[in-house]
Amino acid sequence: EYLDRLTQLEPQLKSFITVTEELALQQARAVDAQIQAGEEIGPLAGIPIAIKDNLCTRGIPTTCASKILQGFIPPYESTVTARLAAAGMVTVGKTNLDEFAMGSSTENSAFQLTANPWDLTRVPGGSSGGSAAAVAADQAVVALGSDTGGSIRQPAAFCGVVGLKPTYGLVSRYGLVAFASSLDQIGPFGRTVEDVALLLQGIAGHDPMDSTSLKVPIPDYSQALIPEIKGLKVGVIRDLLGQGCGDETRAAVQAAIQHLQELGAEILEIDCPSFQYGLATYYIIAPSEASANLARYDGVKYGLRAPADSLVPMYAKTREQGFGPEVKRRIMIGTYALSSGYYDAYYLKAQKVRTLIKQDFLKAFQKVDVLVSPTTPTPAFKAGEREDPLSMYLCDLMTIPVNLAGLPGLSLPCGFVDGLPIGLQIVGNALQESKVLQVAYAYE
Ligand code: GLN
Repeated sequence: EYLDRLTQLEPQLKSFITVTEELALQQARAVDAQIQAGEEIGPLAGIPIAIKDNLCTRGIPTTCASKILQGFIPPYESTVTARLAAAGMVTVGKTNLDEFAMGSSTENSAFQLTANPWDLTRVPGGSSGGSAAAVAADQAVVALGSDTGGSIRQPAAFCGVVGLKPTYGLVSRYGLVAFASSLDQIGPFGRTVEDVALLLQGIAGHDPMDSTSLKVPIPDYSQALIPEIKGLKVGVIRDLLGQGCGDETRAAVQAAIQHLQELGAEILEIDCPSFQYGLATYYIIAPSEASANLARYDGVKYGLRAPADSLVPMYAKTREQGFGPEVKRRIMIGTYALSSGYYDAYYLKAQKVRTLIKQDFLKAFQKVDVLVSPTTPTPAFKAGEREDPLSMYLCDLMTIPVNLAGLPGLSLPCGFVDGLPIGLQIVGNALQESKVLQVAYAYE
């Protein structure tokens, strides 16, 4: 049924780069056989899932929506997809994204534009736009995305679904194609908070293959799903509701905050003065790490190779032809910021400001259980509307501080403006996913 619906909607939405029909049917039949044999199946068994195409899947093309990975078929499986396959999930396909997850609209894909299911002339957000659109249109029950600076939460907000970026280190990054390694985290999309909690349970937990993976006990997230937040302290990040936030978005989020208060939460206003430097900090750190991570695409190890007479021209031609304009821009910004003479002025300075942003959060969490803000300054915009890269970067104003501090953040639908969904962002202290889920569940 899901494959039929997926195929039927795909000409309009273009959420998928690869549809894995054969694999899906094989996985579904395996679960069916287990049921027929009277074997016990887990809570995720038989559930159709879509996977962002920057997660390596053995034997299935993994493109990162880039021409440079043309023809690359990973010889290994990412930890998250391996865990979900072992749990009996059914993979329906690999979803579209901004090239190497750099972008906020999925328009930077080298292959196709994905439409927002609520209004086909608008973008689904990004970079995990294909995953968000697939879940919103019910082409899959749940999906995986990655979030370096908002790429799960922002498309979740634009597509009216729930998306969670876990605490840095909670979910293994093994097999996730690296963008900015100190910020990247994999996380779930679902139509409900419960679905997101179930999928998080399936992917969280230590992995020796990822040196940044945390060795911590994983709670039972379903226990957090209680519709009760009486007495819980909810901080409103004042700095994210002022300038830079659209009036209609602010109104929708203020109504959501009032609802939390009616549910018994205590509302406090919180100042995070360093957040104003979040975007500037991110756009030094993320491109710097990206420029190092993307050095591996040299025409030798992976995918595309542009033939030339000798080695160095071959590198240059391959990278010139294989990378799109946004990826090239990031590589140039990153190599510039890391070069000698500029390192102290840009990269080192950005790392210091990153610490200040973390301290703003730590101070806030001495007073409150969770923080809330809008997920994005505006609802989904029209395709082609934001050509200027700076206006695109502004989409991440509210999500980026959370990545810089490594904290868990969730986006939850909280109303509509002109028929377009608005997202409420709920942020927790490190490893407080349960609290974030509890507030989201109570609100929902
Ligand atoms: N939009 C941000 C960027 O372009 C965030 C991307 C992400 O989270 N992968 O870098």
